[in-house]
Amino acid sequence: MSSHDQLQRFLLDNLHIRGAVVRLDESVAQVLQRHPYPEAVQQLLGQSIAAVVLMGATLKIEGSITLQAKGSGPLTLLMAESTHRRTIRAIAQWEGEVNDQQLQKQLGNAQLAITITPNKGARYQGIVPLTEDQLAPCIEQYFRQSEQLPTALVLFQQGQRHGGILLQMLPQPGQSHHTETDDWQRAVQFLMTVSSEEFFGLDNPQLLHRLFHEDDLRLFDEEPVEFWCTCSEERTLEMLKTLGQAELENLLEEQGAIEVDCQFCRQQYRFGQDVIHRLFGKPTQH
Ligand SMILES: [Zn+2]
Repeated sequence: MSSHDQLQRFLLDNLHIRGAVVRLDESVAQVLQRHPYPEAVQQLLGQSIAAVVLMGATLKIEGSITLQAKGSGPLTLLMAESTHRRTIRAIAQWEGEVNDQQLQKQLGNAQLAITITPNKGARYQGIVPLTEDQLAPCIEQYFRQSEQLPTALVLFQQGQRHGGILLQMLPQPGQSHHTETDDWQRAVQFLMTVSSEEFFGLDNPQLLHRLFHEDDLRLFDEEPVEFWCTCSEERTLEMLKTLGQAELENLLEEQGAIEVDCQFCRQQYRFGQDVIHRLFGKPTQH
């Protein structure tokens, strides 16, 4: 089965702008089939995944980027993650009825945390208050507050398909402050005119040519996007180890074995006494 889930980065050379387009279908379906999410939560998850893949496209590191909102409303958690390999996973938690896609209304008093975790080196986290009902302006606010390059993004959905476009101003030589250029403002204005019908009705070259036809457009190769969970037996054991030996011994005594169910992919891990004892370097006793 061929998948149309892909990320495509591009450069608008003479405007000094870089960007990316993402289109998702099967990868989001893979996330959604694992929990009985209400319709509005499904849409919010799809948007979050599209957004995090676009944000990941701006990173040069190997590792992952996570977007997470925790709230006190009917929607209590929204989390999406993407890696430099363009794999995605996501999860949401809710209590009661989530009846529309207005983010702030559904999450209540919430913050949006963006965490970048390189495979090597220090983790970076930026947090912005969630003050909008749409995800895209919250993410733009994150880029502004973390004093990064001016960045604009739009997200689209049509049925179960999701997508989006991100633009980012390239650093200006010799400038420490990223003053928005006229070219930048014009490009963002064009971006805001794209309708959902146009986005899903055109392919990337058509779409970008329609938007930026006067400018030198360089399209990079399409990169497939896939659902993939990064959980493993090893990582699950590392997590268990942080609970401490006493806690795990108690669980073993009560249940005979320790079972962990990955919330992202529903993989079940089951560890017996031998494995848990080995974790703490304790010889197995018979
Ligand atoms: Zn998993």
